[in-house]
Amino acid sequence: MRVLVISDVHANLSALSAVLDDAADQYDTIWSLGDIVGYGPRPNECIAALCEHEHVAVPGNHDYGVLGRIALSDFNPDARGANLWTRAQLTPPSLQYLSGLPEKIVIGEFTLAHGSPREPVWGYLLYPRTAYDSMAFFDTPVCLVGHTHVPVIYAAGDGEAVALPPQPGVTVLLDDGRYIINPGSVGQPRDGNPAASYMLLDTVARSFSHRRVSYDVARTQADMRSFGLSPRLIARLDQGW
Ligand code: ZN
Repeated sequence: MRVLVISDVHANLSALSAVLDDAADQYDTIWSLGDIVGYGPRPNECIAALCEHEHVAVPGNHDYGVLGRIALSDFNPDARGANLWTRAQLTPPSLQYLSGLPEKIVIGEFTLAHGSPREPVWGYLLYPRTAYDSMAFFDTPVCLVGHTHVPVIYAAGDGEAVALPPQPGVTVLLDDGRYIINPGSVGQPRDGNPAASYMLLDTVARSFSHRRVSYDVARTQADMRSFGLSPRLIARLDQGW
């Protein structure tokens, strides 16, 4: 099976559309690792665009924020403001879609979660140490996560995990070890590269390809401006932070 692995779309329809175009005909299904909404200007449209494709999805902390399942006091002011705006925009079908997502999904050799296998919605895997400690909390060879908006492959070694920064266009073959893999963010990359980030997975070949695609950032920013979203959230899309 060929899988388009995406995460952290954050209501950025221009970025999601660019990824879907770029990956067209190269995947059979989509795995979405959460935060389809929050920050960006087109939450309903992004849910609708995803639902046009065969896919599975887990919820992220922003998705849970709009549903009222986690307290917005845990969000920074920009995230909180955007989340309240998003909450007011979401249609009943969008809310119904988000409220039905399971926090963790296991498909064959892969566990899907937003933050970490230990704390699926809120956990952060920012360092090899925490990635290594998380290996005990899933049973499959590979766990796919998002949440940090930074693409990375953590490979479990002897008593530690090694972080392998994925190179765009380079295919990585998985060996018999264990991995935690983050495809990066479609709609708000934070690794200094503003291009939308995603991965293509071949479950038979056991290979991952990291991809970056530029999108119409100005269009997303103009939408955000017209809806009165935070200038800081608008500015960060230019630089990828
Ligand atoms: Zn996110």
